Amino acid sequence: MKLTVLGCHGGESPTHRMTTFLIDDDISIDAGSLCRGLDLDQQYKIAHVIISHTHLDHISDLAFLADNVIGMRPDPVTLHCTEKTVETLQNHFFNNKIWPDFTRIKIPKSDLPVLQYSVYKPGVDFKVGRYMVRATPVNHPVESMAMIFKWNEGGRTGAIGYSSDTGPTDAFWAEIAQQKDLKALLCECSFPLELQWLADVSGHLSPKTMHETIQKAQLGANVPILLYHGKPSHLQVLKNEVRALGDERMTMLKPNDRFEFT
Ligand SMILES: [Zn+2]
Ligand SMILES: [Zn+2]
Repeated sequence: MKLTVLGCHGGESPTHRMTTFLIDDDISIDAGSLCRGLDLDQQYKIAHVIISHTHLDHISDLAFLADNVIGMRPDPVTLHCTEKTVETLQNHFFNNKIWPDFTRIKIPKSDLPVLQYSVYKPGVDFKVGRYMVRATPVNHPVESMAMIFKWNEGGRTGAIGYSSDTGPTDAFWAEIAQQKDLKALLCECSFPLELQWLADVSGHLSPKTMHETIQKAQLGANVPILLYHGKPSHLQVLKNEVRALGDERMTMLKPNDRFEFT
């Protein structure tokens, strides 16, 4: 698995990009900076976007991706969503007021739509390209799904975890603890200790609550803990606080970081 960080921040500026992780060259986890992070030819290759939840910093670029790829791809882009997410996107985003409903706009000279949904259910494995994905609800003000991506290439197996936006939680960490071949964990860490109260009320983690909650995952000594979703105004303080934890597995991600897991 090739993993490219397109966006890893909980906000935006010319040097900060919102949550989006590219898997290989055709699958995206969330879409906060899918267009800002990829040139047009790369955007045309996106076949699947897996949506963790409907907050704007995770879906905003679905609008601009749809606009950019129309007529440039023979097939629809599949949005993997829960039923509730489909309902929210249709009622509040692709509602022909905020943005056109690209699930009803046809690809030129085709009967296929520009975007199509594929509904996934928490706790039930679903296939995206060569990966099996399992979603687990986590702790956020709106429905939010953490995910585990698993692969098996000629007997070589691996998995990565993605926490989505969450405060302290249990079920996802129990799932992670069962993954014997975990290659990396993408974990949110949004607010510094000074704003612990804000992390708590908004369903996010500080370095303190991140450190506490991931103990439940019993991660191996060599599993990288890749931290994302830091709020841009507090990144430097966050970095210092993460460093002070003294856990060498932890890295604060930067846009365009790349990893290869086998
Ligand atoms: Zn959120
Ligand atoms: Zn977010």
